[in-house]
Amino acid sequence: MGTDTDVLVVGAGPTGLALGADLARRGVDALVVERAEGLFPGSRGKGIQPRTMEVFDDLGVLGAIRAAGGGYPVGMVWQNGERLGEHPMSDPAEASEDSPYNEPWMVPQWRTQEILLARLEELGGSVAFGREVTVVTQDADGVTAYLTSGSTLRARYLVAADGGRSAVRRALGVGMTGETVDPSPMLVADVRITGLDRDHWHVFPPADGSPAFLAVCPLAGTEDFQVVAQFPEGTAVDLTPDGIRKVVAERSHLAPEDVTEVRWASDFRPRAALADRFRAGRVFLAGDAAHVHSPAGGQGLNTSVQDAYNLGWKLSAVLTGGAPATLLDSYEEERRPIAVGVLGLSTGVHRGEVRRGGATRQLGLGYRDSSLTAETRAAVAEGAVRAGDRAPDGTVGGVRLFDAFRGPHWTLVALGVDVPDGAVGAAVRVVRGTAQGAYGAGVFLVRPDGYVGWAGDTPDGLGGYLERFGLPG
Ligand SMILES: Cc1cc2nc3c(=O)[nH]c(=O)nc-3n(C[C@H](O)[C@H](O)[C@H](O)COP(=O)(O)OP(=O)(O)OC[C@H]3O[C@@H](n4cnc5c(N)ncnc54)[C@H](O)[C@@H]3O)c2cc1C
Repeated sequence: MGTDTDVLVVGAGPTGLALGADLARRGVDALVVERAEGLFPGSRGKGIQPRTMEVFDDLGVLGAIRAAGGGYPVGMVWQNGERLGEHPMSDPAEASEDSPYNEPWMVPQWRTQEILLARLEELGGSVAFGREVTVVTQDADGVTAYLTSGSTLRARYLVAADGGRSAVRRALGVGMTGETVDPSPMLVADVRITGLDRDHWHVFPPADGSPAFLAVCPLAGTEDFQVVAQFPEGTAVDLTPDGIRKVVAERSHLAPEDVTEVRWASDFRPRAALADRFRAGRVFLAGDAAHVHSPAGGQGLNTSVQDAYNLGWKLSAVLTGGAPATLLDSYEEERRPIAVGVLGLSTGVHRGEVRRGGATRQLGLGYRDSSLTAETRAAVAEGAVRAGDRAPDGTVGGVRLFDAFRGPHWTLVALGVDVPDGAVGAAVRVVRGTAQGAYGAGVFLVRPDGYVGWAGDTPDGLGGYLERFGLPG
């Protein structure tokens, strides 16, 4: 049986769009199908963490993301119509040469998705809207997706990026195990509002300690505010404009008519859940289809985009680069432990046990224990970059490292060590310089997704490592 495409991506949320763009720039034949007629309209995943900013830099959308958003506003606590005072929404962090994007950046999710779609299309990819996948079957050669229209699509691999209620996950019988983080339902809505400044994230705590708080956050780059309100367990949340006006008026000094427009509204109950497997044969689960979290701490969209980023280069290496299909096993091996950690973190932030700060920025995540990681040095200085770590930015021989990393290739960074021409094939970009910052001295092979795959005192052994990925050593 022939195939319609090499990779069928189900769902055009942040995961599917990021994966589609990554595959398109690698020249992989891929198709993204989306059941809705257009992109998701709400602001919900509005916090872009520093690590995702780095991923967006590599995907070529950082400029658009910066232009579309802004930094996080300072919190302002209100009581009885009085300002009680400001409080920071996360621990501050200075940008540094290693980590140039150190603060979370606020962009409404609908805008991030527009930017990713534009990039996907610029790279020659596309999304087929109005196509819903219901059933998925697979055999030794490929996957067949059945659509509600009655047609089928055949692909060599399929990625379920179809969100927390993933139809693909269910069709495959992959379980999702989890817990309710908080039984109190939450309202989230995008509104136009008068009477509040746009410099603060306005917080109206309940006087009696009940879960009935209200938070109103100006959405950078728009005239909207995101309203989040929590309700006592068992409440049926009223999502009508009048229902939203009522809750704003009841919990703040504002009048119902100060909410002049409701542009989008939804409700949810915070859950933390993890798919039992991230791979079933030729099908991969990514993003919310694989893990759902409390929105507290702003981890969901970020972890989802980074799933896509981990999978894109591996699919490309297998489909077009001669890497063995077993490379794809490392997707679950690397991403499931990350999801486990992020679930615990989000639940901790939700329950007030963990502050937004170092961990929520996701710069410390990495793959030290991965079977793809080879740290060959006998001794590594405390705190220095090791194989498996995120490759930090820096300047080497007049070249900015993130400029050198940008694109679908691998990069060899040789610091204070002589690496002869021809030590690696033409597919690997080489940057040479003296011992540098977080790296120190040594030879660092940086994967296409910006993690150090191999580190050594000399280039000895590098060739054998590269051959594992189908690259000439
Ligand atoms: C209130 C709230 C606030 C949040 N805040 C943050 C935040 O600050 N930072 C953060 O990182 N995350 C946040 N999140 C989480 C974030 O929104 C999600 O993690 C993110 O949307 C996941 O992206 P995804 O692409 O995996 O799934 P989704 O965004 O759910 O996209 C899945 C897509 O698949 C489509 N689809 C579904 N089924 C099918 C099918 N059968 N066939 C074809 N298409 C299908 C859907 O229509 C949808 O477009 C928040 C979430 C909520 C609810």
